[in-house]
Amino acid sequence: MNEQKIISVAIDGPAAAGKSTIAKRVAKILDFTYVDTGAMYRAFTYAVIKAGLNPESEAESCSIIPNTDIELLPNGTVLCNGEDVTKVIREPLVSGNVSYIASYKDIRLALVELQRKMAMSKSVVMDGRDIGTYVLPNAEVKIYQIASVEVRAQRRYIENQEKGIETSMDDVIADVKKRDYIDSHRAFAPLRPAEDAVHLDTDNLTIDEVVEAALKIIEEKTGVKACH
Ligand code: C5P
Repeated sequence: MNEQKIISVAIDGPAAAGKSTIAKRVAKILDFTYVDTGAMYRAFTYAVIKAGLNPESEAESCSIIPNTDIELLPNGTVLCNGEDVTKVIREPLVSGNVSYIASYKDIRLALVELQRKMAMSKSVVMDGRDIGTYVLPNAEVKIYQIASVEVRAQRRYIENQEKGIETSMDDVIADVKKRDYIDSHRAFAPLRPAEDAVHLDTDNLTIDEVVEAALKIIEEKTGVKACH
């Protein structure tokens, strides 16, 4: 359908802003590939913990770069050295440590290389923190998706419950705030909107409304129309 020209859609924003829900839906509608870059940092965090290393130590965490292989399968499965880690990377132990891992430059460089490769041969909707500013600065569409801390924590809490992940609301709020702080204060490729990003505030919108808004932005920027 929309395969003639390779198009990149970057969706960035703070933790639990609903980026992956929207990115997944938009990718499906447009027949683009969804790339969840957060899952890659989470999988790396899992690998560090599994190896018995300290995620707060940059040297220890970076030591496993050469022997850590992360793969995103088209069906959404996340593999870390061949192991299916799709579910475990959403657990609090990984969520609570991932922002340390994501602040290490060498780990970012390794994962960014994979992300750029994925966007070279096919149209993608890629969500993360630095997609529009660093990973794909020439992306045709850049969306910066935001929502208040309260709304984001509430959404993540419900999502966790649905996935069978035990967390308290207080823990979710603390996790979201901590990750936002570390993500936006790191030295290399911090969380911030690209100058040419369209801001999308989702506080008072339903998922369907956010999807429609994102599709409208994509159509305005690229001419690509949703066929649904
Ligand atoms: O998107 P998600 O919340 O799953 O991302 C997990 C963590 O990975 C973020 O809190 C952030 O620390 C890191 N991340 C990043 N850059 C990206 C995507 C995620 O630093 N492009």
